[in-house]
Amino acid sequence: MHGYAVISDVHANLHALEAVFGRIHEMEIDRIICLGDVVGYGPHPDRCVDLVIRCCSTIVLGNHDEAVINPRREEEFNGPARQAIVWTRSVLGPLHMDAIRRLRAVEYPQEMVMCVHDSPVDAPTDYIHDPHIAALAFRGLLKPICLLGHTHVPMVFEAPGSDADHDVTAAEVVAYLTPDGVPIALDPQRRYICNPGSVGQPRDADPRASFAVLDLENRAFTVHRQEYDIDAAQAATQEAGLPTVLADRLAIGA
Ligand code: ZN
Repeated sequence: MHGYAVISDVHANLHALEAVFGRIHEMEIDRIICLGDVVGYGPHPDRCVDLVIRCCSTIVLGNHDEAVINPRREEEFNGPARQAIVWTRSVLGPLHMDAIRRLRAVEYPQEMVMCVHDSPVDAPTDYIHDPHIAALAFRGLLKPICLLGHTHVPMVFEAPGSDADHDVTAAEVVAYLTPDGVPIALDPQRRYICNPGSVGQPRDADPRASFAVLDLENRAFTVHRQEYDIDAAQAATQEAGLPTVLADRLAIGA
């Protein structure tokens, strides 16, 4: 298939990652893009880094990944997120730390596509949840399609114009929710910000793992949801001694 599977925000949830990779394998897609935050929150950072490096053709650096390799960035996190970053740093070996250090903030896997973790612009917030924030983000698009994660909520934003010089207003931005398996058509005359949701810690009240398929031939972005063993992921989180809230939230998708 002339396309890519797109994953983001694995957050060291190996149970979710293995289930998603199994599904991608069944779909016979051989190129996988990872939009960062491979680690943080979950109990299997080493094995998730191994799997992502082995299976993904493009990987960008997430804010949790960065905080693990750069303690100064840790101050931006509070409570359980920060505890998980400190714990992650204590369990990763030098090879895994080096693998994270090699990741870049922006990648261009294809002439139509740019990849970042959170936002292509410096803005007051890098959580692109609504058309107002998306309108600012479109100013940073250097390609017609920008793939990003960070919010843990799958969504697509569409704007007019085919180049970055065209500033858009919030009123011009169309926001799409992305029901499981329903393709969002990508018009060649328009630009898109596409978020596949989170593999390891979904926050849209659907606890199933989320990922997407970007089909450039048929010009569609389709989010898929995948069941996985949430009980086992919660038990592993508790066994690692990570904060209980990080296990609890997996069951409700929050
Ligand atoms: Zn994240």
